[in-house]
Amino acid sequence: MELLKNRIIKDGKIKEGNVLKVDAFLNHQLDIELFEKIGEEFKRRFEGKEVTKILTIEASGIAIACIAARYFKVPVVFAKKTQTKNIAGDVYTSKVESFTHGKVYDIIVSKEFLNVDDKVLIIDDFLANGKALLGLVDLITAAGAEVIGAGIVIEKGFQEGGKTIRDKGIKLESLAIIKEMSVEGGVIFS
Ligand code: 5GP
Repeated sequence: MELLKNRIIKDGKIKEGNVLKVDAFLNHQLDIELFEKIGEEFKRRFEGKEVTKILTIEASGIAIACIAARYFKVPVVFAKKTQTKNIAGDVYTSKVESFTHGKVYDIIVSKEFLNVDDKVLIIDDFLANGKALLGLVDLITAAGAEVIGAGIVIEKGFQEGGKTIRDKGIKLESLAIIKEMSVEGGVIFS
């Protein structure tokens, strides 16, 4: 998606440790006009697929998922991150290792909001090593629901997540795929 790629080049900031900061439009200040274009593009890429629910993870996936949901006309469910040890039995749970913080945390979704009839599209801001996405897939599988695919705004193609997800046969649509990035050389897309 050219508009998105141009915005990453204009406003993205490359940090140590393979982290791309996009706080100016995606992760802190939110450019809703851009989000609308992103939502429209996800709809186009999953055209013809039946989707009953969008699943994302707090916090940065929520806003994108909500705008995308306007095009799919379905509810958004977001997995909550928790460090609670004793999780009640009325939730589906999985463990995720955070790429940006290096910690392992539990993600949960109430059983009330994911069920066996659901056809779920996962939406998230970034794909790095794929742990967040795999955690969400776990929750959907535990519910007996169907994974329709995953829509990612920025995939860091030089990390393993994209391959892991595609190897599982999941339809993965990333709107910008970064082939390489460095402080000196900037961002290069696939
Ligand atoms: P993964 O689980 O695929 O390793 O990492 C995905 C999650 O980590 C995303 O939900 C995103 O919040 C965060 N993340 C991973 N890489 C980056 C990055 O380069 N920049 C930002 N802003 N977030 C990232």
